[in-house]
Amino acid sequence: MEQKRIILIEDEVKLARFLELELKYEGYDVSVCHDGREGLEQIIEGNYDLVLLDLMLPGLTGIEICRRVRKSSNIPIIMLTAKDETMDKVAGLDSGADDYLTKPFVIEELLARMRVAFKHAQKDNSKKTLLEANGLVIDTEKRMVTVDGTVVELTKKEYELLVYLVQNKNIVLTREQILNEVWGYSYIGETNVVDVYIRYLRAKIDEAFARKYIHTIRGVGYYVKDE
Ligand code: CA
Repeated sequence: MEQKRIILIEDEVKLARFLELELKYEGYDVSVCHDGREGLEQIIEGNYDLVLLDLMLPGLTGIEICRRVRKSSNIPIIMLTAKDETMDKVAGLDSGADDYLTKPFVIEELLARMRVAFKHAQKDNSKKTLLEANGLVIDTEKRMVTVDGTVVELTKKEYELLVYLVQNKNIVLTREQILNEVWGYSYIGETNVVDVYIRYLRAKIDEAFARKYIHTIRGVGYYVKDE
């Protein structure tokens, strides 16, 4: 298994050292930072798998760090806080932390919470980035469409239409639903735009690969079939 990279931001040097040793012993790659502002920079610049974040820090508070990180990243964050700070729990979770641990805690508890956070992150990733229907794969992170491994070049609207169809595969979508979702409620233009773009997609996907993905229900709408 690949070694997970952890960043620990904690200004109590003794506790930080203890956690660093324990986590290294468990096989994690651990970086430690004692200052909030430096910690934020490291999270943004480094390629970490999880953040352990103390709440009260010099420089920037854990809550502020969390809020800023969440603007650009879904990295799992577990907040660590002293017992008398538990009233800040809600604020911590509101700011985007995944979990919350009150000091003092036993290391096994932290390790268990970390495993849960990793599992959630993995689920989120697979859900968000890959859409699939019968050999047609959309990688939404790379914005790439492949059919049986062959890359298909699509225009912006063709791509958005295909994503919507595959997200709702096996469900018949009316022209109106598609128009609202892909072109937006305020769209003013040719009313047959959906049919036109379905034709474009068919030329690139169905006809190019001699397989029928996009099905028509006459008088109702379209759907992508996944068996
Ligand atoms: Ca502290």
